[in-house]
Amino acid sequence: MRLSDLGEFGLIAEIKEQFVNFSVPTDVEGIGDDCAVIPKDEKFSYVITTDMLVEGKHFLTNKISAFELGYKSLAVNISDVAAMGAAPKFSLLSLGVSKESDAEWCRDFIKGYHSLSAQYGVLLLGGDTTAAETGHMTISVTVLGEIENRNIKRRSSAQKGDIIAVSGHLGDSALALQLMMQGETPCNELLKKHNMPSAQVVEGIWFGAQEEVHAMMDISDGVSSDIEHICRLSSCGAKIYTNAIPYSDIFNKICSERHFDKLALSLSGGEDYVLLLTIDGAKFEEFKQRYSGIIYPLGEITDSGKVEYIGSDDQKIEQKRGFRHF
Ligand code: ADP
Ligand code: MG
Repeated sequence: MRLSDLGEFGLIAEIKEQFVNFSVPTDVEGIGDDCAVIPKDEKFSYVITTDMLVEGKHFLTNKISAFELGYKSLAVNISDVAAMGAAPKFSLLSLGVSKESDAEWCRDFIKGYHSLSAQYGVLLLGGDTTAAETGHMTISVTVLGEIENRNIKRRSSAQKGDIIAVSGHLGDSALALQLMMQGETPCNELLKKHNMPSAQVVEGIWFGAQEEVHAMMDISDGVSSDIEHICRLSSCGAKIYTNAIPYSDIFNKICSERHFDKLALSLSGGEDYVLLLTIDGAKFEEFKQRYSGIIYPLGEITDSGKVEYIGSDDQKIEQKRGFRHF
């Protein structure tokens, strides 16, 4: 069987199955969520996550600056920590770089990584540096965070009647990528969304402390794929109202001018790195008032066991599929 037949999530399921008899302490939470959870003491836990970026697959060095790539490598990991409601504390950085690489490029990469580390006080504790073939640079980052036990938000805690909401616009990053793939240079506003996504640390910590928030994750693969994870792990279904998906003005403008498929970009594009959360439906309005930022409701949790998309005329529309690595 080829790996493409097994699929990314099929492979992860097999890895998980192989370790099922391992005597993991019952209060340690492993594969399945944005981060693993390791109890620290009575009151606090550590959360830990790792994400890899591969040249040619996740980035092209002529489409992203070294500074931006350093920033993004940490941001995508911090985003997973924020998705648990936790504060990022420490990181490890491993680099596979060609010996032909430009030393100045590497210095700029570290400047970018440092700038986001400094913004959130994330201490770089170590890593690894190794040689890679030219054109096959690999970046692997691990981030450790900390959280009060009662604030941990899991993908598995959505309940029927919850409102599904996102903490930012969707599709900008995917639109920037599409334009770049067509050989165009997106405007700075869009480019920044793709090359320097802001991990929503402050928002994630606040959501973590609210008991009305039941489930949370970050949007890395696209809502259509990510909401499926919540539904599978929470044994529920979801309805997404496609006309409630929040878009930025620039996204609306470019997609209208160019006749791009907004739904394909926003549901399946991915790399938004905003938070996807489910909130107690009965308390949503009060919750929304209390939140100092903007939150966009776009659906509800059902007990149907499937994800349905409802168009503006109340008609069900075809399901869009999120990004899969293979
Ligand atoms: P995210 O997009 O939030 O980073 P992923 O979809 O990459 O999450 O991964 C889903 C879950 O599978 C996570 O809990 C992650 O730790 C786990 N996982 C992914 N790849 C592997 C692997 N090679 N071995 C063990 N666990 C893995
Ligand atoms: Mg994630």
